[in-house]
Amino acid sequence: MKYYSTNHKSDDVTLRDAVVRGLAPDRGLYMPERLNKMDKEFFENIDKMTFQEMSLEVAKAFFGEDIPADDLKRIVYDTLAFETPVVKVEDNIYSLELFHGPTLAFKDVGARFMARLLGYFNKEEKQLVNVLVATSGDTGSAVANGFLGVEGVHVYVLYPKGKVSPIQECQFTTLGRNITAVEIDGVFDDCQALVKNAFMDAELNQHMKLTSANSINVARFLPQAFYYFNAYAQMKRLGKADNLVICVPSGNFGNITAGLFGWFMGLPVKRFIAANNANDIFYNYLKSGVYSPKPSVQTLANAMDVGDPSNFARVLALYGGSHKDIAGHIGGATYTDEQIKETLKDCYERTGYLLDPHGTCGYRALKEQLEPGEYGVFLETAHPAKFKEKVDAITGGDVEIPARLQAFMKGIKQSVELSKDYTDFRQFLFNESK
Ligand SMILES: *Cc1c(COP(=O)(O)O)cnc(C)c1O
Repeated sequence: MKYYSTNHKSDDVTLRDAVVRGLAPDRGLYMPERLNKMDKEFFENIDKMTFQEMSLEVAKAFFGEDIPADDLKRIVYDTLAFETPVVKVEDNIYSLELFHGPTLAFKDVGARFMARLLGYFNKEEKQLVNVLVATSGDTGSAVANGFLGVEGVHVYVLYPKGKVSPIQECQFTTLGRNITAVEIDGVFDDCQALVKNAFMDAELNQHMKLTSANSINVARFLPQAFYYFNAYAQMKRLGKADNLVICVPSGNFGNITAGLFGWFMGLPVKRFIAANNANDIFYNYLKSGVYSPKPSVQTLANAMDVGDPSNFARVLALYGGSHKDIAGHIGGATYTDEQIKETLKDCYERTGYLLDPHGTCGYRALKEQLEPGEYGVFLETAHPAKFKEKVDAITGGDVEIPARLQAFMKGIKQSVELSKDYTDFRQFLFNESK
């Protein structure tokens, strides 16, 4: 299958090129030229399939022309070594828990899939692939853990010294093996600038093979469709799959766009809701038809602090640019930090279900917008323990840290300290490749 750029100024590419490049040369996002429909039989039997089985069928629709069935099966089954259960929160409202992976957030799914796909593409090559990733916290941990132990690939995680939480830091500094944590004396933007400079450095790129594991990469983005099918299957088992509304806490809009892909492939979801924090760019677009990006503001749900969501370009491409169609199929919501606090506390006290600040936006939007006869599923995008200080301050409780998160905290931190000067980073990479 070919992949085209949403800016239409670059050539169409193969899956392999789309994955290795990440962003198209015209700075557009890659999109598959077609979305194959799943057949009727698939949906009739979906409630009898395991998560891995149904995901393999969906993966074949995306990647079946490019990857032999046996390899694809191995990649999908290895990626999905954990469940995404649907859990009842209250009447008609269910949580799709996406935090049962190694770093307790949904980004594990895309990162694990991309790691295995890159490993597959690089199998026949002698040269090591080096993945550079800049992180303000969560992406680094998902990518590092996703790529841990993948042969032929080395990952460099650049993060700002002293600016990520101790829980986040230990998830990518204690791994060792093919993961190197690089601690930069600067802020997140400095880390991002270093990575960008390295990609544009022709001499360095001749010397070593570099690639990015950015969230806009098709290999990180498309596999997120899998768990929407799993949500539907579980609701079908409960007899509650008719009139299904899926609500997605959204920042860069990769997660919800994968769900929309599912819908275009025939997934019977009535409508979607994108729940924003105070970064209300998409919400305003739905109301006005005008997309006006603005600088992001910091909120309690910080992984959604995005002022110019990259994947908006993919949403537009899916609906042929029609505001009417987009607004007719996707609802919006926006919440302040005060509202997030109030809702997280209220839900915990009334139902006993502890939300994280991101999932809270999704829960509240369903609570406000679900109509009689509809069933709602919101995506619980991370485990509340990842935001322990904030969540404890809101509930007055003491959220228990899951064992796999505690295990990271017992590891020994290893990192390379560098200044924010590109010459230092460049020299470091040259030395590494000797
Ligand atoms: C990344 C992230 C989001 C936002 O997802 P997008 O795909 O960027 O919309 C929401 N919640 C959590 C916990 C995240 O880590």
